[in-house]
Amino acid sequence: MSLDKFSSNKKLIDRIEESIKCGKVFHAYIIEGDGLSGKENFARELCKAVLCEKAPGTGCDRCLSCRKIDHGNYEDLYYIEADGMSVKDEQVSKLQSDLKKKPTGPRNLAIIQDADTMTTRAQNRLLKTLEEPYQGTVIMLLSENRENLLETIRSRCVTLRLENTADGSEKQHAASEIFQVIHDGKSFYETKALLMKNMKSREEALILLDGLERIYREILVGRDSRSRLYRTEEICRVIELIEEARRDLYAKVNYQYALKNLILKIGG
Ligand SMILES: [Zn+2]
Repeated sequence: MSLDKFSSNKKLIDRIEESIKCGKVFHAYIIEGDGLSGKENFARELCKAVLCEKAPGTGCDRCLSCRKIDHGNYEDLYYIEADGMSVKDEQVSKLQSDLKKKPTGPRNLAIIQDADTMTTRAQNRLLKTLEEPYQGTVIMLLSENRENLLETIRSRCVTLRLENTADGSEKQHAASEIFQVIHDGKSFYETKALLMKNMKSREEALILLDGLERIYREILVGRDSRSRLYRTEEICRVIELIEEARRDLYAKVNYQYALKNLILKIGG
């Protein structure tokens, strides 16, 4: 795998490799990109690039730290993600005490998923750590849109903006297929079968939703040849339904149920 797999972000990964090789590892990064950008994988690859001694700046995939990160059992890497609708103050507080522990390896690392959803209190708490970072610690905030974060947080992080990856394009293609069967008025069962084929986890369901929303938004602003076939109110209704499904997924509703429900509602 390694960072090289993000070839659509060539300039960015070259820049990262160069700075890590020069010993410049920042204490906090905002990794910004939509659901199709693969930012979770990118964050893991960045951890490898930071820790790997065999291939600093990219990661070798073979050494102990690279393999442990791939398997999700690297001792000094901490994760938090939205608990329900948001990342809460208590979660950041717990993370802070974890990061204060002495690492078993060279440094502690943290990945904050859904960083956009951090409550203001949680962000203000995190700010203290960003202002006075613990020695060697690297914190990665995964964000759809960095503007959702407090300016004081943004100014203390290096932003890495991701464009879509090959994996993302695959999912966008799947979203187009699903859009097409909905558009053609195919039966619910046909649509459901296509959905199940392309969605094996909550994460994939979120990516598909982003893909679908992108198509409807293109139609809404008239950048899609199918725009003239739809009334604006109809498209807005569907976009709202997609957003509702996304909220359901964040609230830990079963992803298959949430997406089936969405398809039914779009049809209805
Ligand atoms: Zn390695």
